[in-house]
Amino acid sequence: MKQESRHFSDERFKKNMKYQTTKKQCQKKINESNKVCEHCGRKPVPIKTFDDFGNIYYLAGCRHGGDWGHFTVGVSKDIYDLAEKLVLDNSLYLGINNIFGGKSDDFGADFRKAVRRACDILEEIERMKNGKPRYSKKDLARIYEYLEEGVRENCQ
Ligand SMILES: [Zn+2]
Repeated sequence: MKQESRHFSDERFKKNMKYQTTKKQCQKKINESNKVCEHCGRKPVPIKTFDDFGNIYYLAGCRHGGDWGHFTVGVSKDIYDLAEKLVLDNSLYLGINNIFGGKSDDFGADFRKAVRRACDILEEIERMKNGKPRYSKKDLARIYEYLEEGVRENCQ
């Protein structure tokens, strides 16, 4: 079976997507979105997968040039390019020195992981430019009250 989704992760993403998308519909959505994979910068492709009843449908995803990958709708190329630059700069806790979960001995995989994390942060920054923060200063002061002195919340 070609294009099977066995090696794809992120079941949460898969569950949130609409079922019963044909390959053509999926490709159309990918073309319209004009986004790239937040792990490797490639254009997402339709990935064949199955619903709970064994019916075939397609979701946007990327194999990152290998055999396995992630389902993803991607990010804008601007976000990806900036994320990659930040990781290459190896600064702001976004570089190869700060791989979430530690080094895995696979530079390619760890690099993609770091770029993806930088993409998440940059997307959040973009969203917040016109968005509303979760807390008011008053609410945040209440949260602050319950923090133990000298104990820092790990925001990494
Ligand atoms: Zn990719």
